[in-house]
Amino acid sequence: MPSTLGYDGLTQMLHGAADAIRDNHTTLSQLDSVGGDGDHGATMMRAMTRVEAAIKSCETPTVKALLYDVGWAILGVDGGATGPLFGALFMAMSEAVGEAEALDAPLLAHLFEAGLEGVARNTRAQPGDKTMIDALTPAVEAMRAAADAGADVVEMLRRAASAAHDGAASTATMQARFGRAKNIKEQSIGHPDPGATSTALLFQGFQKGIEKHA
Ligand code: ADP
Ligand code: MG
Repeated sequence: MPSTLGYDGLTQMLHGAADAIRDNHTTLSQLDSVGGDGDHGATMMRAMTRVEAAIKSCETPTVKALLYDVGWAILGVDGGATGPLFGALFMAMSEAVGEAEALDAPLLAHLFEAGLEGVARNTRAQPGDKTMIDALTPAVEAMRAAADAGADVVEMLRRAASAAHDGAASTATMQARFGRAKNIKEQSIGHPDPGATSTALLFQGFQKGIEKHA
């Protein structure tokens, strides 16, 4: 495995994410039916179908164009909170990447930090509010810590997946303060947040997608 990630590596990460969502969409919708409208799995499936179509039709084979097309594809998913938030993640990464085509660990961490900032510009939810932020924030922090410790991109994505998983699991004890689930107040306690769970699946898929080709 080379020490940097390029266009092809990125497509492998994204295909891995699509596979992870595809394998778990029923669980995501079940989780969303606790306090939401039960559509999260279906919405994520539509998002991933659009992502895979965007990869296929990406006309300029640059990392920036790929991230932009993927972000744009997700933004175009109708149905609630998911499209704007996950779309913002990839759009902000595309803005941050500049002309770089070989992403090493520090640059990949930087891109995800920019992505998290992009999401944060679209919501006031903070860690602890039982949203996707509770998985995304620790994943991005783990990436930065891994980069600072000299880890390569594969090890970095492994740590990010683990942190996202733990972050998603931790939402089970939280009360929802954003999204539809806030309406059921303390009844939201006891189940993990669907958006945090799908975020953990995306990172698990990023890792698996890369490892499959490593
Ligand atoms: P909707 O709630 O509009 O049907 P989804 O079911 O696709 O959208 O997604 C629900 C998930 O989106 C929640 O579990 C939560 O993680 C996330 N979410 C919803 N609203 C917000 C928000 N304001 N800020 C951050 N995340 C949110
Ligand atoms: Mg929903």
